[in-house]
Amino acid sequence: MPHSPIPLVSSPSLTLQTLSFEDTLATQGHGPLTAKSISTLQVNMGKVCNQTCHHCHVDAGPQRTESMTKATIDQILAALDQAPEISTVDITGGAPEMNPHFEYLVRQCRVRDRNVIDRCNLTVFYVKGKSHLPEFLAEHEVEIIASLPCYLEANVDQQRGKGVFNRSITALQTLNNLGYGKEGTGLRLHLVYNPLGPSLPPSQRDLEQNYKEELMSRYGIQFNRLLTITNMPISRFLDDLRESGQIDSYYTLLVNSFNNATVEDLMCRSLISVGWDGRLFDCDFNQMLELPLQNNSPQWIGDFNTATLEDRRIVVGSHCFGCTAGSGSSCGGAIA
Ligand code: SF4
Ligand code: SF4
Repeated sequence: MPHSPIPLVSSPSLTLQTLSFEDTLATQGHGPLTAKSISTLQVNMGKVCNQTCHHCHVDAGPQRTESMTKATIDQILAALDQAPEISTVDITGGAPEMNPHFEYLVRQCRVRDRNVIDRCNLTVFYVKGKSHLPEFLAEHEVEIIASLPCYLEANVDQQRGKGVFNRSITALQTLNNLGYGKEGTGLRLHLVYNPLGPSLPPSQRDLEQNYKEELMSRYGIQFNRLLTITNMPISRFLDDLRESGQIDSYYTLLVNSFNNATVEDLMCRSLISVGWDGRLFDCDFNQMLELPLQNNSPQWIGDFNTATLEDRRIVVGSHCFGCTAGSGSSCGGAIA
């Protein structure tokens, strides 16, 4: 997909200071970014995780304590009851399965006939008390989106921690044995790729083919789709960029790779993100940056109201260039 011909940023130090995302949209003939109808509710169940990956935009880990309460989950369910147009509940974290109410949320969403996505790190299956999760997810036909940034052990362990690769492979084989990733079972298993460093992901279609061949020949693993995601310049990945002196060059890459064709389908235009404490955001990234919804929108899930959230103006910042670079990036992978 050709990129839009915006002027090349030749001086990296000018990028952040003078080129706003909104100005770039305007230059390309777009008005301010606004939401369309809401089809996905993304629920962040907390920052607790059994891993501490280098690129984590949530800054999650075992020492974090932020975790969604059952009262907040009940408010989410009440919101679903008044919004039949929300067809998908996309559950994330941290490791969402570490939240003691994860299974309650999944069951209640399925009772309401919503598609449920679990953003799963795979190693959570080996946490004490969680070994039943693969069967639980299969029984409730939960769609699994799992991170596997490479099919090579050294690269995965470098980004996600020592031993993560081998446990991830065993977990994927367990899911395959339950029918996940196989034709005709209805149990969908997708993998997520993100670059190891400050570069854009390669072609999603080509890389998917590559992953399928390598994972089948090396480990007998099957999956449905590979989703390529750009590393967002926030949180732990931003700290890494600062430490390595690559922050300006990475922003320059994102800005210069702006792709007009991604704007129509940016994920914030069709989802609402709920924080662990019940606050509402335009997306998970705005949540991590604590950028609330524009101030005439409801701010808490308890005040959810579709009519006032559709057509809202989306709060944007320089991090948004991560979603519009190259083929684009969203929780569903490449956009364009
Ligand atoms: S990237 Fe995912 S698995 Fe890794 S620390 Fe963050 S939430 Fe946990
Ligand atoms: S970071 Fe991406 S999804 Fe979030 S508001 Fe910006 S463009 Fe939309």
